[in-house]
Amino acid sequence: MGLSNIMSATPAEYLYSHAPERPVLFFSPAILQQTATRFIDGFPGLVTYAVKSNPGEAVIQNLFAAGINGYDVASIPEIELITRMAPGAAMHYNNPVRSRGEIARAVELGVRSFSVDSHSELAKLKALVPASAEISVRFKLPVSGAAYDFGAKFGATVEKATALLAEAGEMGFTTSLTFHPGTQCTDPAAWDAYIRTAAQIATDAGVRLARLNVGGGFPAHRLSDVTPELEAIFALIDRVTDEAFGEARPALVCEPGRGLVAESFSLATQVRAVRDDAHVFLNDGIYGALAELALVGIIDRTEVRTGEGAPRGGAALPRIVFGPTCDSVDRLPGELALPADIEEGDYVLFHGMGAYSTATVTAFNGFGAIDIATVMALH
Ligand SMILES: *Cc1c(COP(=O)(O)O)cnc(C)c1O
Repeated sequence: MGLSNIMSATPAEYLYSHAPERPVLFFSPAILQQTATRFIDGFPGLVTYAVKSNPGEAVIQNLFAAGINGYDVASIPEIELITRMAPGAAMHYNNPVRSRGEIARAVELGVRSFSVDSHSELAKLKALVPASAEISVRFKLPVSGAAYDFGAKFGATVEKATALLAEAGEMGFTTSLTFHPGTQCTDPAAWDAYIRTAAQIATDAGVRLARLNVGGGFPAHRLSDVTPELEAIFALIDRVTDEAFGEARPALVCEPGRGLVAESFSLATQVRAVRDDAHVFLNDGIYGALAELALVGIIDRTEVRTGEGAPRGGAALPRIVFGPTCDSVDRLPGELALPADIEEGDYVLFHGMGAYSTATVTAFNGFGAIDIATVMALH
């Protein structure tokens, strides 16, 4: 992936002047910094960034410049990236399963906060991390309101989390709880249930929580007529934490990936063919930057431009859209409404593409080369 140093005003200007045949991700540092400020000003606690959602160096650099001083990291390369790009920032190693070698290296690099959801992993941490470290027990509830279930892989049941929290307390660690309500969580009630359960777990374990990490899951704007209401979620988290914990209110932490980074990128794909006036073939698909659409659902915030960069305004027609590989599952879910006059050579822009796009591109079938271009504005 190439990072262009010459900044264009908008994607339209870039498309007109470069006529790219490969997909291009347009990055707006201004929007990323605005979103960071929205989280820092609105969230009632520490905002950390989940690096896996987009580990681009320019992303980390801009978040750090905007005041994001904590990072949720899941691997040694992510820890090294943050050490390099955001020196001095807090790193929370919240992948609940790690090898002994990884734990030792993380401690060496200054990590002092670890999540855990099993007795065996807690025993590993006891042997390898300083006694002053923070142990965040990750728990799960039956999922609701999110695009897919994060509890399927990680998180202890409430009963087990209670035992783990008591055990971590007895070991002398700084004790905290963490959860993840599931990605693209559009139902604020999910946080309500998790926060109240966290208070119950702390009471039953006889432990005062240092911090409660309310996870990622903050929704991005994927469908034109569903606008996420971040401030309403922040207010709910604040109110419910007060109600559930009272005097014992812990400090809050959140770790958004998608919610912080999605809006700052738009993807431009090119129409390779409108086959017999029916199916649309794009130069990117589910093995590339559009991988997540197959898991989380379509993004309908699209804009179609001609090869000259002019907007297409024809009446919308639902189309089946395929990616460039020879694999027949390389198709966007359902149908996408596109202007009826769409033609070969046009560009289809998808907005809100910053999360889980660059991070998971594959080179399957010889595709996957994507350029990144920095722009002043995405529209
Ligand atoms: C992936 C991940 C996140 C970020 O989730 P989003 O839905 O992108 O906000 C946060 N915390 C942990 C532990 C994760 O694994």
